Amino acid sequence: MSTTSHSTLAQARIAVLGYGSQGRAHALNLRDSGLDVVVGLRKGGPSWEKARAEGFNVAEPADAVRGADLVAVLTPDMVQPALYHESIEPNIKPGAALLFAHGFNVHFKQIEPRADIDVILVAPKGPGALVRREYEIGRGVPCIWAVHQDVSGQAEAKAKAYADGIGGGRALLIKTDFKEETETDLFGEQAVLCGGASSLVQAGFETLVEAGYQPEIAYYEVLHELKLIVDLFYEGGIARMLEFVSETAQYGDYVSGPRVIDAGTKERMKAVLTDIQDGTFARNWIAEHKAGLPNYKRFKQADLEHPIEQVGAKLRARMPWLQAGAAKPAAEPLKKVG
Ligand code: NAD
Ligand code: MG
Repeated sequence: MSTTSHSTLAQARIAVLGYGSQGRAHALNLRDSGLDVVVGLRKGGPSWEKARAEGFNVAEPADAVRGADLVAVLTPDMVQPALYHESIEPNIKPGAALLFAHGFNVHFKQIEPRADIDVILVAPKGPGALVRREYEIGRGVPCIWAVHQDVSGQAEAKAKAYADGIGGGRALLIKTDFKEETETDLFGEQAVLCGGASSLVQAGFETLVEAGYQPEIAYYEVLHELKLIVDLFYEGGIARMLEFVSETAQYGDYVSGPRVIDAGTKERMKAVLTDIQDGTFARNWIAEHKAGLPNYKRFKQADLEHPIEQVGAKLRARMPWLQAGAAKPAAEPLKKVG
């Protein structure tokens, strides 16, 4: 790796707890960066065989933690407090580092880490599959990092070395703190990325279909083509999107965008942010998880049964090149959208 901080973990044993979206990507990237990785999982759990098949030394969480200099907690947020109390707290070495990819449990005090360990955060700004894919092609996903507790005097170096090890150093590293990462991450996924975007798409689809247009055409207009727009945002911001869409699409954007997303929307976004900041969201989510996810399951079922999912499944079956790993059609020059 390019940066000097990488050597901080050169002799370290890293325990990666969890082998899901982030855990698998981190474990593979760290190993390919030449670092010593053990994966900690429940024996008989869903990922145990997968991690072994991919060549990892796999151990029960407590055993993985025992010999580790850095413990990356990459299980679902809601199971982390029990995992911490049962497997990490009694076993982590003094002076070792406890690393999170999201600050939720530390910020909302669901985990109060032992005073004799470093507590750090490295949060890739992308899903695990992208963290792995970018690494494999020699690039990385930007990461934000933070130090909550530094007993070794090396906490910052460890966070940067870990970020380097997963490929983030090839992209961009930004310093944050646990509060900022937790609150902005929750806000982004709720208001814009997962919540905002899927609600916008569903409402657009419903509007067209209720007005009598074909669902297949509505699907392409409000869901499929969104990728082309988001790719332009990603490459060059709103300016690049405006460069590539027609004059007519631009005029429509200027006069109709603010009619749909208006000052009322922003007021409600502020209310969402307030619930995150004052702990209301965290309290509700923890209670929902403890109750066995009754509302979560109901909401998820409604999303999966939305008519856009039925028409989408049929259309995607006729576009096999969209599936990851399938051969792509010859690249065509980017056409204008709108
Ligand atoms: P995930 O649900 O994809 O994977 C969880 C893994 O933990 C699985 O391998 C599962 O078998 C294992 N697991 C579950 N319970 C366990 C237990 N009690 N003991 C040991 N292993 C257990 O999780 P994820 O989405 O990768 O999230 C991990 C962390 O990364 C979270 O803190 C999340 O907020 C953060 N994060 C996720 C993303 C993302 O895109 N998914 C992005 C940034 C940060
Ligand atoms: Mg998140």
